[in-house]
Amino acid sequence: MPVERTDQHELFKYYEVYETIGSGGFAKVKLGRHILTGENVAIKIMNKKDLGDDLPRVKVEIEAMKNLSHQHVCRLYQVIETSTQIFMVLEYCPGGELFDYIIAKDRLSEEETRVFFRQIVSAMAYVHSQGYAHRDLKPENLLIDEDHNLKLIDFGLCAKPKGGLGFELKTCCGSPAYAAPELIQGKAYIGSEADVWSMGVLLFALLCGYLPFDDDNCVVLYRKILRGKYENPRWLSPGSVLLLNQMMQMDPKRRLSVRHLLDHPWVMKDYNSPVEWHADSRYTHTFIHENCITEMAVNMKRSRVSTTALVKEWRYDQTTATYLLLLSKKQRGKPVRLRLEPTVCEDSCSPLHQGLQTREALHFSEDEDAVIVGSLEFCSDYIDDCPWVSATNNKDMRLASPSVEKKCVYSPSPERGRTMAQHRPERRDRDQGQTSENKENIAVQEKDVKIFALPPPRTPASSKRNARPNKNVLTTPNQNANFNGSKTNAVTPKGGGSASKESNKKRAAEFKELANVDLLAFSPERRSRSLDMAVTGDSEKKKRGGKVFGSLERGLDKMITLLTPSKKRALRVGPRKIKAQYNVTLTSQTNPDQVLNQILSILPEKNVDFTQKGYTLKCRTWGDFGKVTMAFELEVCLLQRLEIVGIRRQRLKGDAWVYKHLVEDILSTSSI
Ligand code: ADP
Repeated sequence: MPVERTDQHELFKYYEVYETIGSGGFAKVKLGRHILTGENVAIKIMNKKDLGDDLPRVKVEIEAMKNLSHQHVCRLYQVIETSTQIFMVLEYCPGGELFDYIIAKDRLSEEETRVFFRQIVSAMAYVHSQGYAHRDLKPENLLIDEDHNLKLIDFGLCAKPKGGLGFELKTCCGSPAYAAPELIQGKAYIGSEADVWSMGVLLFALLCGYLPFDDDNCVVLYRKILRGKYENPRWLSPGSVLLLNQMMQMDPKRRLSVRHLLDHPWVMKDYNSPVEWHADSRYTHTFIHENCITEMAVNMKRSRVSTTALVKEWRYDQTTATYLLLLSKKQRGKPVRLRLEPTVCEDSCSPLHQGLQTREALHFSEDEDAVIVGSLEFCSDYIDDCPWVSATNNKDMRLASPSVEKKCVYSPSPERGRTMAQHRPERRDRDQGQTSENKENIAVQEKDVKIFALPPPRTPASSKRNARPNKNVLTTPNQNANFNGSKTNAVTPKGGGSASKESNKKRAAEFKELANVDLLAFSPERRSRSLDMAVTGDSEKKKRGGKVFGSLERGLDKMITLLTPSKKRALRVGPRKIKAQYNVTLTSQTNPDQVLNQILSILPEKNVDFTQKGYTLKCRTWGDFGKVTMAFELEVCLLQRLEIVGIRRQRLKGDAWVYKHLVEDILSTSSI
């Protein structure tokens, strides 16, 4: 797809854009920085052409997020629409997905679960009070912010029935494993009741670390849900068993409502107060903060009165974003100050701006690989004229990925990988019911990571696209060591999301090592990906995730490595040293090269494609139809102070539970 530089001009005028931090059914999410305030944001990027019939659903999400302003709902700052793309600028949640937090801990204690669950109840009570049903509740759609609070995201499937939430909906949507029986049966249903069922599944996942209803085969999964029977593991308290039962009632009318959950005895335990669900005054739009206005007025050279009037229009443009981000700074005790104009290239064309323009075009015209290479590849055409950036061309020779569109991601596939349940017993025996956690915070990383390159491959792709995963082992080694053996509490490992920033830094430092690339293959299917069977329409929504981006590499014949002078000085050959964090699996080994080699030898066996950049392995798996089903990173690092080797894991795309199985499998088979 040809790139129109002007098309993304608005985005680059106001934001610096960094690496990909997540990817959904039809969006790619990148870390960004709002230039005027210097605040981090998440930028959800959607290509209109690729959205096709799903475009109305993005509009639904945007409208919902404009209307929903709550302490546990991810905040929308700005929407930029160009002729080809839509950018949603969102509150950045560096702690990652609740899902990853659960799997890192295996499962959460009842106490920690309660902390999170109260926040989920608070968010859902608010969302329902505004007339919305979310319809895609799952731990992947709850993010952890820097204060370890949950933020609900992904309102793409939400519904706001015209007659109110009591009116029936018909579209069967959401993720199969979290779908209420009435949805699966194709019956008309009440959105809020279906949400409570999903909350029950979510609560179970928090307390148990696996799903109550699970199967790789959707037909079998649906049968299990329709039977409504699940096993309560022995560590659940009687109170938890009761609450789960009350939420996962087959008959929606017998299910608890969110209103009941607010002061449910289990929810109130140790708190003695019902859940506060009203929007915190910091989140309502009724009070305008004067010092934010003053700072903006000075910057905009306007009167305070007219600045206030402008802010009050809530247009979700640069004014809204600047105000809300200034407010966020204020609330975190930071100075309410705007930066002077950006000092990068003229005409708002910083290297990041320039690079993204080129790169994004490739991303959206092509495919999933973009998820892996993230925002780190830049075409020299647009960067060469920026004087303070040096460039080195690198020819990327990775093989193109097949891109046959696969419309049904849920087709029954009885042979497909393991279910969580099948492997539980082994895991339980080993764990003896213990949980563990990380007490240490994540290292704060530099934010000014600039530009990196894709390494040339050393070996070609194998042809194992359709090979099946190894079904033998499902254990995570060193799980206790993972979190320093400390007891569970609600303390946040802050700044989790900055790991990716650090990894960029690492990649920059390792640009000399861009020689080791192997491509292999694998094919697990997505399972809990959101679906939409579009039975009949309460909206125009269709199955999500049906979009296929082509291969980035296919269109990419020139890659460059760019480093700022400071980054060049920072070049380093060894693994990064990081603090223990919840997405790092600790090993008992001290030799990073040995650990790296062990993992490298296992990936082909598990049919995982990978590209290697120093100690970071960017992994991918493939579906039967040549679609990338999963993208994740494994990075061998050294743990600060402990001087032992750790493996940082980060899921970028794909079914969360399949990812969990696979990474556990890789790490345990690597015997590290
Ligand atoms: P889609 O609508 O295409 O499913 P999502 O909104 O679910 O996309 O975003 C995809 C992923 O991107 C999320 O699962 C999460 O990992 C990441 N992500 C989304 N929003 C944010 C955010 N505000 N902060 C950090 N990461 C985010």
